[in-house]
Amino acid sequence: MAVIRFQAVHDANNRELIQPNLPRQKASEFFGVNVFSKEKMQKYLSEEAFEGVMECIDKGLKVDRRLADKVAVGMKVWALEQGATHFSHWFHPLTDGTAEKHDAFIDFNENGMVFEKFSGEHLAQQEPDASSFPSGGIRNTFEARGYTAWDPSSPAFIVGNTLSIPTIFVSYTGEALDHKTPLLKALYQIDKSATAVCEYFDKNVTKVFSTVGLEQEYFLVDEALYFARPDLVMTERTLVGHASEKDQQLDDHYFSSIPERVQSFMREFEYEALKLGIPIHTRHNEVAPNQYEVAPLFEECNLAIDHNVLLMDIMKKIARRHHFVVLFHEKPFKGINGSGKHNNWSLMTNTGVNLLSPGNKPKTNMQFLSFLVCTLKAVYTHQDLLRASIVSAGNALRLGGNEAPPLIMSVFVGSKISEMLDELEVRVTSKKMTPDEKTELKLDVGKIPGILLDNTDRNRTSPFAFTGNRFEFRAVGATANCAAPMIVLNTAVAQQLIQFKKDVDTLIDQGVKKDEAIFQIIREYIIDSKNVRFDGNSYSDAWHKEAKKRGLTNVSNVVEALDGYLAAKSKRLFKAMKVFNEKELEARTEVRWDNYAKKIQIESRVIADIAIGQIVPMAIKYQTELIGNVQGIKELFSEAEFKTMASARLDLIKRISVHVTTIKAQVHEMVETRKVLNQENDIRTKAFGYGEKIVPFIEEIRYHIDKLEEIADNELWPLPKYRELLFCR
Ligand code: ADP
Ligand code: MG
Repeated sequence: MAVIRFQAVHDANNRELIQPNLPRQKASEFFGVNVFSKEKMQKYLSEEAFEGVMECIDKGLKVDRRLADKVAVGMKVWALEQGATHFSHWFHPLTDGTAEKHDAFIDFNENGMVFEKFSGEHLAQQEPDASSFPSGGIRNTFEARGYTAWDPSSPAFIVGNTLSIPTIFVSYTGEALDHKTPLLKALYQIDKSATAVCEYFDKNVTKVFSTVGLEQEYFLVDEALYFARPDLVMTERTLVGHASEKDQQLDDHYFSSIPERVQSFMREFEYEALKLGIPIHTRHNEVAPNQYEVAPLFEECNLAIDHNVLLMDIMKKIARRHHFVVLFHEKPFKGINGSGKHNNWSLMTNTGVNLLSPGNKPKTNMQFLSFLVCTLKAVYTHQDLLRASIVSAGNALRLGGNEAPPLIMSVFVGSKISEMLDELEVRVTSKKMTPDEKTELKLDVGKIPGILLDNTDRNRTSPFAFTGNRFEFRAVGATANCAAPMIVLNTAVAQQLIQFKKDVDTLIDQGVKKDEAIFQIIREYIIDSKNVRFDGNSYSDAWHKEAKKRGLTNVSNVVEALDGYLAAKSKRLFKAMKVFNEKELEARTEVRWDNYAKKIQIESRVIADIAIGQIVPMAIKYQTELIGNVQGIKELFSEAEFKTMASARLDLIKRISVHVTTIKAQVHEMVETRKVLNQENDIRTKAFGYGEKIVPFIEEIRYHIDKLEEIADNELWPLPKYRELLFCR
């Protein structure tokens, strides 16, 4: 078997490297060629239609049928020119991926002849059957029908021969069944609330965008090895596998030279992504062997998320051309780093100002401080909700494991900003400041940019870190649709900004000068949110103790962490901000619990199958060989000689028996436990049970299989090993 295994490695490496035949063109020459961009809309649409769409995008309005009809005319011409044969509404249901149903452009005209048809009806709205998508009970109580409706703020694009139209997906009764619908609502709220706060500082600000840059980590595994691992195929992670002798302990992979085959894959998917208007910028080797990162330039949040989901899809497809499989799972390999997706987040005005970037005047810095402290306070207030937004079966294997942040939501701001906030806290004490105090304060505030440029300290252990001109939410998992965390963050900050405005206005109404009122409230918020600020090592035990003292929550159980969505505070937030109603929130949480239970259920089935179908028979075969050998020795040698010669083998035979017996017993017990759990009707109880009762079985069975891997004949081992999966490139 080992021969075949190495043969497989050999084959994969010897297959001709695919050198994508990419044009010798600058990226600027082909960037976005497959996107029906603003420029193309201007070219292909009537003036009236173009202006109509622009207005809808700007004001977040729905595109009505009349306008859609007009837009469809131009969109069809463009798509057909590009060779498109089909169109599809493209949406993000509550699964890990996207959904698309392709329809051909063809129809019969009244003379029975085929022609290319695409009208406003096709563009604006469709009615897919919602019953096969996760809905968390919404579909049980209501009609199965759902509909998709065009989101004009994300442009249509062509993949293969299909014109893809980004859409929202809602139930017939109006409840959101996707990630995009609530995201757009949250973005509307952050725009309104941030714009209102900007009025204190700059009347030219009429719109604020949430900006997001997503750093995507992933692993590459040779295709031949991948298909020899049922666990990878079924669960995207290795459920068994002894650690490789060498993995990441030499720190020799991060930023090292990118292997040629990998680079050829990167070049090809980047090319496809750039054509789709995804501004890919960064690529490098990550910490673990065969782990990499890709990051585009930041974009408006809704677009950045669409692009991330699309990028993941493209990467999966292109990888196969290079005989690789991409793994986005948060923890494909035990004992080495897993993959996250850092959400870099900020707010940007229509005047091009980054609200989390300090400027060079006291006034702009007052604005910066306002947004900074509102974010701190929002994260503090809604720590449970932020955690709920990022937990999953996969991410649970990564977070808190000395490679990724713990489940305590704290914020790193860096020593300089910390000092600054501490100073403001003691300085602004009275409602009426003396002129001297005011001058001093303004001088201080004016100093921020200089400080920040020197402020290069980085903290890789923090779940939520300020990095000079943005926050980086680092606890998000690599498979995540980032809408979930971005809905929470934008909604929570929006509510805080509304409160900030109210608080400042109240002081102004009491006769306090505007600047002073703003400083008073900033100071109040600094004090209120002080507990969430932590610049030290978040991995340390000391921090866990300290966080507990500070009253920060720490919930590592996924099912319990998801309860954060249903806390009274969370329900109030989402209701007030009109992002989710209670029913939607409950449904969404149920989907997440259900997904958690099912993922573990699948893992449990797969490991049982590997154990009973592959490992136990191999172990028995090897043991039989050993027994034969021992019997031979016994026949040939004296009793005394036999004792010395066979003792190690006898021991091995016994050890194999112990592992085999335990594996069989554990698998049996796990299956029986599953049967009981499957009778449970309450989804939360069931998911909780899966986490508490089934996960330990999976771990225990793995332990014994990995022990067998250590002692069994390499030639007989039926699965590719870690050293092969991690080092075949
Ligand atoms: P790191 O050093 O943290 O690994 P990367 O270069 O990999 O940084 O990624 C940083 C990401 O942050 C990029 O996507 C970048 O465009 C994004 N970013 C930069 N400025 C902003 C901003 N103002 N808002 C949102 N994202 C930003
Ligand atoms: Mg990076």
